Amino acid sequence: MFLSTFKTLVLATYISQASASCGYGTILQPRAENGTVKVNNFGYIGSTGPANWIALDPAANALCSNGKRQSPINMVPGSVSVVPGAELAMTIPDMPEGTEFENLGTTVEVVAKGGNMSFGGVQYSLQQFHFHLPSEHLDNGTSMAMEVHMVWQGAAGQVAVTGFFVDLNDGANGGGAPVAAAGKKRSSLQERRLATRQEQEQQPAEGSNNTKLPELEGAFFHVNAPQSGAMKSSTLLETVLGSVDAIAKPGTVTKTQPLVMSELVQALSSGSFQTYEGSLTTPPCTEGVRWLVSNQKMSIQTSTFLKARSVIGFNSRFPQNVPGQNNILSINSS
Ligand SMILES: [Zn+2]
Repeated sequence: MFLSTFKTLVLATYISQASASCGYGTILQPRAENGTVKVNNFGYIGSTGPANWIALDPAANALCSNGKRQSPINMVPGSVSVVPGAELAMTIPDMPEGTEFENLGTTVEVVAKGGNMSFGGVQYSLQQFHFHLPSEHLDNGTSMAMEVHMVWQGAAGQVAVTGFFVDLNDGANGGGAPVAAAGKKRSSLQERRLATRQEQEQQPAEGSNNTKLPELEGAFFHVNAPQSGAMKSSTLLETVLGSVDAIAKPGTVTKTQPLVMSELVQALSSGSFQTYEGSLTTPPCTEGVRWLVSNQKMSIQTSTFLKARSVIGFNSRFPQNVPGQNNILSINSS
């Protein structure tokens, strides 16, 4: 109730913003009321890519280059606090009527129709979830096939993101039957190199956003939760991504089939989350975002992944420094 009132108030201020991002549908970037899908003006390659996001709007995007608590990061077990999933008391209602599935140009996003969780004494409501390919956070040095970001907002404008990794599993017979095999971490710690970037036509950034998120208080140390979770095949992701080719063009929207959310909620609640305070992984790279990265990996079939990849392409910001350390881009330019 408060949220809708609040949203109405801030819409007047931020409606002109053109760039939707990981924070789309939150106080940072409210969703357009008329149902149109805004297409992003930042990119992932060349002059519009993450090494140069600051140039798109130097004032609004300053934290992208000089912020010291930026996301994503390499999630190394033992380096961040761990919270048992059940402590979030996450609930997300099923969506028997389906929901909107949008192509924002830089990701594809599912609009939420309710959902609650609590963390650090803050009640959050689910706004949307979207996909990154490959994963933005690294799983102990390894990128995964995809990463899903579930974006939550508190009544006072706090933003939290629950993230989980998605990998490929076609099952024993290639048929994509549910598989309960335990996920095993690969030991490779090779650092990912940034691909050579192709120059892309640069578009001017419209609007700016210096909105600061409220401080989150408290320390979150729960060290008894398991570090390594199982990998579970995801009917939810198969259903959502099954219609991804209907939104192949940026700015388009379709309706999903009925979505059963309980499978995902149960999986995430049965595991644990690594948590740290970071940022949006897209411009304006706003800090103060509470990250909760699940140890529960979900899997999809290779054919589903290929469909998603043909639409999403590449949308992963490079790993940032350990929270608190100088931004790698400010180190390079000094
Ligand atoms: Zn994201």
